[in-house]
Amino acid sequence: MQTTVADHPLIAHKLTQLRDSNTDTPTFRRLAYELTTLLGYEATRNVKVQPVGVQTPVGSASGVRLARPVPVVVPILRAGIGMLDGISSLLPEADIGFVGLVRDEQTLLASTYATRLPDDLTGRDTFILDPMLATGGSMETVIRMLADRGAATVTAICLLAAPEGLAMLGTAFGDEPPIHVVTGAVDAHLNQKGYIVPGLGDAGDRLFGTI
Ligand code: URA
Repeated sequence: MQTTVADHPLIAHKLTQLRDSNTDTPTFRRLAYELTTLLGYEATRNVKVQPVGVQTPVGSASGVRLARPVPVVVPILRAGIGMLDGISSLLPEADIGFVGLVRDEQTLLASTYATRLPDDLTGRDTFILDPMLATGGSMETVIRMLADRGAATVTAICLLAAPEGLAMLGTAFGDEPPIHVVTGAVDAHLNQKGYIVPGLGDAGDRLFGTI
């Protein structure tokens, strides 16, 4: 598994604002959008393209377009929805699947309550959206769903990651399909409730309010 910690002053600046408990929900949502576009730029560096030619007003140019079949983006509900607009602004052609997972607060284990994915992902680049890579349990579940459907590559985009989650994914998967985690920062550790420390709290609550 490859891990990229995006090293950019704008990402560090926006992450600091995102962490701040004084940041209100509308600002948190905007920052999540902006950070996803910045992390998405890094995450899509090796997305498959194919050659195309176009006519400009003054001649012909050779270029590329996204390869077919187009990539598939999979936000993990609920908090991953807060990253969907950001990645969609970079990959408007991508198909979008959904996986809904809920975490048992006692056992910290995730169970699936919704799945909407293509049956066959053969040859497709896939991108999972989840702001917080904490224990890695949710991410492992969704990576397995995509790998079982034949995804060519799996890239997880996370605003923050914990060392425990990265270590868990590193031991859970081999080389096929290639797995890449792109994150804005790797924090210190998890607390007993499975929250990332210092982290930013509950990403879903901060994006959508406490329900
Ligand atoms: N999910 C969150 O929203 N925050 C954490 O710190 C860990 C998991």
